[in-house]
Amino acid sequence: MATQTPKVELRDIDLRYFTLEGETEALREFSLSVSPGEFVAIVGQSGCGKSTLLSLVAGILEPTDGDVLVNGAPVEGPSPLCGYMLQQDHLFEWRSILDNVVLGAEIQGLNRGDAIERAKTLLRGYGLGEFMDHFPHQLSGGMRQRAALARTLCTDPEILLLDEPFSALDFQTRLALSDEVSEILRREGKTVILVTHDISEAVSMADKVIVMTKRPGRVKAVHDIVFKETENGRPRPFEARSLEEFRNYFDQIWSELDIHVGN
Ligand code: ADP
Ligand code: MG
Repeated sequence: MATQTPKVELRDIDLRYFTLEGETEALREFSLSVSPGEFVAIVGQSGCGKSTLLSLVAGILEPTDGDVLVNGAPVEGPSPLCGYMLQQDHLFEWRSILDNVVLGAEIQGLNRGDAIERAKTLLRGYGLGEFMDHFPHQLSGGMRQRAALARTLCTDPEILLLDEPFSALDFQTRLALSDEVSEILRREGKTVILVTHDISEAVSMADKVIVMTKRPGRVKAVHDIVFKETENGRPRPFEARSLEEFRNYFDQIWSELDIHVGN
């Protein structure tokens, strides 16, 4: 069988931060391989190195030791192959929604006319067609996060790095948006790495869940998430949450995360 080049590969990563106060070992011997089109979720407690991992893939940080590869080539700095979505939407308040969405394309020097067309298509697809000329403060939290997703996708990155993108939203919005976003990303065939401390979010959205240890972050367990096919094929995240397998994965990962009161 021909082996497919992984979209993203981390090999034996060590990452230490050096500051005036001393040294922090954030990651130790961390390895990960993500296939093209795969949706991987990484769960771990706060401070275990999740954001650090995404910064390595995005080329914002260099590993102390080990290799980071995208499409089989070493990462040598930020690249348009990766799009980043964060907990805060970082929309600019003085720009209209449309102008915010084309921002990344503008920075990359892409054709502005094409970017505007693509931005409009994305915004219409996300139910924001009537809000293109509005400003961020006129939108709800969920709408703002959808606009942030449109901005990330406007440059058509192959890899989406999602850093707890729903955690600032209220519970209902978070459920609805995680459902929508995973549909959009699967439809567009994106490769996704989602980091979260929310086990339910990880299990309901991802093909594979990686559980990290406490700092220094290492891989503690890997779970392929498989649901019995429902009537419409793979269950959507919202539907997945009520299935029996969901509960089993949740309980297993909960025990691996070893969260106790007082920890
Ligand atoms: P997570 O996203 O899982 O909460 P992070 O990757 O942000 O974890 O951080 C992992 C560890 O590295 C934490 O102990 C954090 O305090 C430390 N850390 C993160 N960024 C820096 C930095 N720029 N300088 C020094 N230490 C850092
Ligand atoms: Mg983080």
